[in-house]
Amino acid sequence: MKKLTVLLLSLALLCLCAPIQSSARMRFVTIGTGGVTGVYYPTGGAISRMVNKKAKVYGLKATVESTGGSVFNINAVVNGDLEFGIAQSDRQYQAYHGMKEWKGKPQKDLRAVFSIHPESITLIASDASGINSLKDLKGKRVAIGNPGSGQLGNSRDALWLAGLDEKKDIKAEYVKAVESASALQDERIDAYFYTVGHPNGSIKEATAGRVKVHIVPITNVKPLTDKFPYYAAANIPMKFYPNATNKEELVPTFGVKATLVTSAKVPDDVVYAITKEVFDNFKDFKKLHPAYSVLTKKNMLEGLSAPFHPGAIKYFKEAGLM
Ligand code: GLU
Repeated sequence: MKKLTVLLLSLALLCLCAPIQSSARMRFVTIGTGGVTGVYYPTGGAISRMVNKKAKVYGLKATVESTGGSVFNINAVVNGDLEFGIAQSDRQYQAYHGMKEWKGKPQKDLRAVFSIHPESITLIASDASGINSLKDLKGKRVAIGNPGSGQLGNSRDALWLAGLDEKKDIKAEYVKAVESASALQDERIDAYFYTVGHPNGSIKEATAGRVKVHIVPITNVKPLTDKFPYYAAANIPMKFYPNATNKEELVPTFGVKATLVTSAKVPDDVVYAITKEVFDNFKDFKKLHPAYSVLTKKNMLEGLSAPFHPGAIKYFKEAGLM
């Protein structure tokens, strides 16, 4: 008798729930971002906010996930675990062409949607460490990035530029950027690398504590920009970090771009909806983060190396951007 009651109750519940679920016909997509103190996380929020305003029109809702960063996001997108991911332009290039972490395994299903804010290779060190150039990293405890991050590759290239060996010359730590600011303040590390847009929560946190810190200039980057097509010289505006001990207004370094990627398997109308809502509401989108101040509709189609997704192409053609 008891069993029968349970069965009948569950059947009744099923009848109640099933029509609601199917009538909603809402599709959910997830955007992989980065640590919560970076710019990818709020960027995922900004993109999803644009498209979620029209959730009913498109039958589409976007949510955001904090992840280990670019490399994690690209892998999750091509494996079908995430529909979208934010990834550095250099990582997009390497994945599509089968280099670095993807050596011999080109990710041919990877698709570009659009590019976003510029990111700079940011080396931040405690004043007490005496690190004032890349060469000074010798013998120091340096967080160079977690394995899923974009910055791990950039830190390695920076070490190469300085002629330093990751295994022999420094004490490399592979912690996440989100943990690095407190590690620097707790004096557990001397410096950390973070490839990130500015301003961001991580550098704000790292400059706000008891331990005095500064951003280390990375100069003479020509060997890097000559060797790799995705690098360009860049500057970090110090006005964002008044508590850093730097005297200069701009700290030189090299940089890449953040980009939005997806898989060839994601339906065209989903990619179209996201592209259209960001570009049609471009003025509102730009207001969502100070790192977007340099964005133009035109430069958001630059710096991409995987083929554009057909859903993005459809919008760009309609809008006369392509
Ligand atoms: N560029 C970093 C990465 O790819 C993430 C930066 C951020 O979260 O803003 O891992």
